Amino acid sequence: MSQPAPETSTIDRPRIDADIVCVGFGPATAGFLTTLSKQLLNADGTPAVESAVAPGLPPQVLCYERADDIGFGVSGVVTKARALRASIPDIDKAGIPMAAPVGEEKVLYLLDPVGASRRPAMLRLADGFIHACKWALPFEREALNLPWTPGFLHKRGGMVLSMGQFMQWVGARVQSTGTVQIWPGTPVSQALIENKKVVGVRLLDQGVTKQGAPADGFTPGMDIHAALTVVGDGPVGPVGRQLDDLFGLPENHHARDWAVGMKFVVDLPEDTPLKPGTVLHTFGYPEPEIFGFLYVHPDRVASLGIFVPSWFDSPVRTTYRYLQHWMTHPYLWHFLKGGKLRSWGAKTLGESGRRGEPHLAGDGYARIGEGSGSTNILTGSGVDEAWATGAQLAEAVLELLKAKKPFTKENLEAAYGQRRRGSWVEQEARAAEKSRDGFQHGFVAGLLGMALAGLSGGRLVLPGRPLRPWERIPPLEDYFRGRIPPGEVRKIRDDCYARGVSAHAALLERAGWPAIPYDGRLLVSHQDALLMGGKVQAPPGYADHVAFIFPNQCQQCGTKLCVEVCSGQAITPGENGVPNFDREKCVHCGACLWNCATASPENPERMAVAFRAGAGGLHSAEN
Ligand SMILES: Cc1cc2nc3c(=O)[nH]c(=O)nc-3n(C[C@H](O)[C@H](O)[C@H](O)COP(=O)(O)OP(=O)(O)OC[C@H]3O[C@@H](n4cnc5c(N)ncnc54)[C@H](O)[C@@H]3O)c2cc1C
Ligand code: SF4
Ligand code: SF4
Repeated sequence: MSQPAPETSTIDRPRIDADIVCVGFGPATAGFLTTLSKQLLNADGTPAVESAVAPGLPPQVLCYERADDIGFGVSGVVTKARALRASIPDIDKAGIPMAAPVGEEKVLYLLDPVGASRRPAMLRLADGFIHACKWALPFEREALNLPWTPGFLHKRGGMVLSMGQFMQWVGARVQSTGTVQIWPGTPVSQALIENKKVVGVRLLDQGVTKQGAPADGFTPGMDIHAALTVVGDGPVGPVGRQLDDLFGLPENHHARDWAVGMKFVVDLPEDTPLKPGTVLHTFGYPEPEIFGFLYVHPDRVASLGIFVPSWFDSPVRTTYRYLQHWMTHPYLWHFLKGGKLRSWGAKTLGESGRRGEPHLAGDGYARIGEGSGSTNILTGSGVDEAWATGAQLAEAVLELLKAKKPFTKENLEAAYGQRRRGSWVEQEARAAEKSRDGFQHGFVAGLLGMALAGLSGGRLVLPGRPLRPWERIPPLEDYFRGRIPPGEVRKIRDDCYARGVSAHAALLERAGWPAIPYDGRLLVSHQDALLMGGKVQAPPGYADHVAFIFPNQCQQCGTKLCVEVCSGQAITPGENGVPNFDREKCVHCGACLWNCATASPENPERMAVAFRAGAGGLHSAEN
């Protein structure tokens, strides 16, 4: 099911003809445009190749980005920067704001200081052993600093970046070539398809009702026709999903593993001992399945956050709340106490890696970046891989343009597909492909599987069949069994939903998690975080991009995972069991796309919620 916007196809639409149109300006498209833009003109300013739609000029290249400005997305980032350096050799000296060379790296196992986390017996045993021998171990403030970490986890020689700052820097650099236009604040609603060939894209309608019907000031989205459509719309992009629904995935491929990553950008206290370039990775707390990161930028600024994966079988997997428990772990709070929140946000990470790879090219289009399965789930690296796939496509496109070959599936597969297959991205993705299957059997098996795959280059793995997210969600009563009586679980949930709020805070506190000690600076309520500094905004006149398309299923759904997980409290319990959606609070994390407790009746790989192209979201270029 391609989840199209409401039907407005009979409307006359303005049309633009271009040579290449790109969907999304993330690291993948940045890699594509950086490589392409440098080679479209000769040294004397004449076109190196000629446009088909504007003879005498270089190819007309347009890029449309959904967010209200370039770099308004969310990401870590620590990166080995191999592909970035290949494209931008002077990157280390370029003065990119918030960038630092990677310095000290630590991987920490966090023990549970509050006794509320759901640890398997084996982990409890390990915790007991660590406590008993802590005098002999690198142990401080309830954290074990792993004395040895395998090479595949390291980012030695790499960079700590702010993705927002980097993307703004790259965007300006690419546009200064004069050969490429990037249009932020311009969501693409769908690909235009004629006889199974992609012929361009349609932009989102403006001046419409919440349901998408024309209203005052109606401005139909333009149709952009182009010989090549480059789809770099990330893990939850609507255009990528439209193509997946139409063309299917290669045999045995599926995108079932996800995580929602939530990130804070924080001013560290003045006396912080943390040096720029410091990289901390954690696991084990607040729940074993939740991985955390803290990267230090220059000027006492840190990016920190957690990932809550789809294989964490909790019906209340709320990222904001868990992030606050993670920050208040004694090991981290030691560094964070006295700090101040600058901005925050959330974003989905596609964790299927190569197994989620779609058809990389078809007639008139090519896929790059995380939506094309490039993210490496073993090394925790996505930016460099996304950039590399974009750069590979650019080289392929230049080759085809120079040879005057059309952008057919066959030509693109030969030029782009082969470059990608022969590269380190593919080689490392193969090693990572099954590395996390062990998590299907639990956390300890998962860690073991990762270690095996990492140390053997993917030759040894712990097998497991990834389930679809909706197949994994236990009812609330089952999840809290043994901690809260089922009747009380239902009562807490019903009381919360009657008040129009999510139930996770009340349930977690009843299950033993302490209340968050709000300090008004770093630990603030979810609502306050949304309001801080106008960081989340939604321009008027657009349709709701989140819709509950099978209301009968929502009415019968007792779990309401969409409400519990929503990163912006934009989804709240509604009347008659169908949730409400408030566009003005949505941070566009995409978590509601896969955090739904029931399958779509049309396609078991999709769920009962539509996540369409939408405007607005975060207004911070620090993330
Ligand atoms: C919290 C977090 C921390 C991370 N940390 C790291 C890290 O430390 N190191 C690392 O290497 N990777 C990290 N990653 C992963 C990394 O961010 C991704 O792998 C990378 O951003 C993928 O790049 P991309 O260009 O493929 O997609 P994206 O970065 O998702 O970019 C896609 C772009 O397309 C736009 N878009 C989507 N739909 C539309 C539409 N309909 N119309 C127009 N535009 C659209 C989006 O707004 C976005 O700007 C992290 C991710 C998260 C969430
Ligand atoms: S969208 Fe999914 S999780 Fe949310 S109420 Fe409907 S069925 Fe339940
Ligand atoms: S409604 Fe918006 S903020 Fe909430 S989960 Fe969906 S995309 Fe994220």
